[in-house]
Amino acid sequence: MFGLRRNSASPAKPVITEEVVLGALARIQDPDLRRDIVALGFVKDLAIDGGRVAFKIELTTPACPVKGEMERQAREFVGAIPGVERVDVQMTAQVRSMGATGQMLPGVRNVIAIASGKGGVGKSTVSANLAVALARSGARVGLLDADIYGPSIPGLLGLSGKPQVKPTATGDQVFDPPVAHDVKVMSLGFLLDDPSQPVIWRGPMVGSGVSQLLGQTDWGELDYLLVDLPPGTGDATLTLAQRIPLAGVVIVSQPQRVSLEIAVKALKAFQSLKVRVLGVLENMSTFVCESCGAEHHVFSHGGAREAAERLEVPFLGEIPLSLDICAASDAGTPVVAHKPDSPQALAFTRIAEGLAAQVSIASMRQRTSIPLRAV
Ligand code: ADP
Repeated sequence: MFGLRRNSASPAKPVITEEVVLGALARIQDPDLRRDIVALGFVKDLAIDGGRVAFKIELTTPACPVKGEMERQAREFVGAIPGVERVDVQMTAQVRSMGATGQMLPGVRNVIAIASGKGGVGKSTVSANLAVALARSGARVGLLDADIYGPSIPGLLGLSGKPQVKPTATGDQVFDPPVAHDVKVMSLGFLLDDPSQPVIWRGPMVGSGVSQLLGQTDWGELDYLLVDLPPGTGDATLTLAQRIPLAGVVIVSQPQRVSLEIAVKALKAFQSLKVRVLGVLENMSTFVCESCGAEHHVFSHGGAREAAERLEVPFLGEIPLSLDICAASDAGTPVVAHKPDSPQALAFTRIAEGLAAQVSIASMRQRTSIPLRAV
């Protein structure tokens, strides 16, 4: 109308290349492996279709506490690329195997032993809660109760009775492990006619008996199989640690000096057998009074962290001394399942995440020359 000419051609749309998308995603760091997710090979199935960008981020464990944050960053960084109209991110996880389970446990990616210097420090309570916490993250989890002197795992998970036996394709018979809170469980406790009677097995018998229990159970595909070892570093425990193809061991300690000293001895015994120490944790660390909220250090506090730092092994965290933990265990539902949002449950969950991270770090170290630092 005023004699102005309009340019009817729309401006050329920017071309989105794989290189640009990967450049944006390379800004995201894995805090445990301390490398960017592109260098670590976590970005999969990248597809660019006009302004739509789709890809998967495949982590090394579903128990990754920053999974949500990584997804948010991926959307933000890729969404900021000129021309991107839509970002489709799928978060997945593929737990890597430490490669040692071999013929004995072909479907099991990582076997993790839970050990202690002495009995009564909460090793079985910790084993049950860590197993349930890992399963709640989406991992496939099994728990073998190898504490033949006091098989308490069935009670802690509310299981009783005998497991079913089923035939394999080759005509052998295997145990079908009962499942509690999404964890496959096997225990000598299931097989004893009278679980209140003590089991009198000497070291080599424990080794062969537990190996049999382990190998004759149909675990299927598992990301993590936790093994609740007998307490201490006697013949039975050490034979087991050598017979089972372990990714590593977690040491449970109480904060008292004497308990800590024994835990350190156990740690060194495993190291001398070339079993990797995945971490140390302190159970019954502090007591928070339910009436006044004050924090009491009933058995002292912090010694396990100091010992871990001194011995240069990861410190996984502290679990409070809590009536809720004890009551939930006695009722057959670990606190992680009974009150998942409680501070006690969150303490176990954080430790489970830290443990999964240590397994990821160790397996990545095995596969790559990339220098990765433990947390
Ligand atoms: P272990 O396997 O080392 O012998 P258990 O797991 O059987 O030890 O625990 C011994 C006792 O201590 C059980 O009664 C258990 O409920 C209790 N217990 C374990 N951890 C805690 C905790 N953090 N707070 C309160 N009680 C606990």
